[in-house]
Amino acid sequence: MPDHFRLFPVKINDFRLLEGSSSCRSEAGCRQCEDSRRMIVLTSEAVVLRTWPVHEADLIVSFLTRDYGKVKGIAKSALRSRKRFGGALEPMTVARAWFAERPRQELVRLDQLEIVRSPLSSPVDHARMAVLSFFAEVLDEALPEHDPQDAVFRLVVSVLEQTTAVQSDIVQPWMALTYFSLWMTRLMGLLPDVVHCTACGEALTAGETSFDALGDGLFCSLHRQGNASGLSADSWQLAQRMLRAPASAFAAEAWPRRRGQDLRRFTVQALERHLERKLRSAEALGWLGG
Ligand SMILES: [Zn+2]
Repeated sequence: MPDHFRLFPVKINDFRLLEGSSSCRSEAGCRQCEDSRRMIVLTSEAVVLRTWPVHEADLIVSFLTRDYGKVKGIAKSALRSRKRFGGALEPMTVARAWFAERPRQELVRLDQLEIVRSPLSSPVDHARMAVLSFFAEVLDEALPEHDPQDAVFRLVVSVLEQTTAVQSDIVQPWMALTYFSLWMTRLMGLLPDVVHCTACGEALTAGETSFDALGDGLFCSLHRQGNASGLSADSWQLAQRMLRAPASAFAAEAWPRRRGQDLRRFTVQALERHLERKLRSAEALGWLGG
């Protein structure tokens, strides 16, 4: 097994200063050379979130790093030379990234991505693509830049393992999707107490719990809002179990697409209220019955 397939054995921060360009013929004081001398190359485990073209052949890449939080960078000539980044710019690729912060520039310079886990390593169908797009959109929209959050990074890596693992011929992504939406809501501080009624504080009962599209919280049968949706007994119990166990603990269970659908709707509504807009990928998942 090649070295980079071992998942993050060590955490290394590599700082090194780059030499100035040797082709510059001007004497001391060239601003470009000074900048390039002050450029610091950083490396971190990272997940590619989104790319979009800029100039002729460059790509802007939004990626989530474990050590520096979400970062936007420019991948020079990425469209011209596919060889340079290989398939590593595919959204939700887990990679080790090398990038340089540039003085007076908002975008870092993305130098290299070494794939650790590619979403393309297992068969891709519509459902899995929609789930991967949902991960990418939520992370790209909800996380501030340069604010490392180790728990979020670990969550993403673990659900990607579950989404791209080939354990059987049919690996459905609904468990990973449910786990991710629940935990993202929790890590962003948007998840209410799932055991007690938001209105009266009494313990909730399986099968008699509801939520409302317009407000936060879970409600008992007495405080059910007029246009509330019910949270099924299975989903309510699932939420409590998922908050206590890793994603891998649920992989062996049966996950038809309808399972946890109401729990996903509850958490996605909380995320959308926080972001103050609809998530496009959530709409696409809705069409797939997810
Ligand atoms: Zn109540």
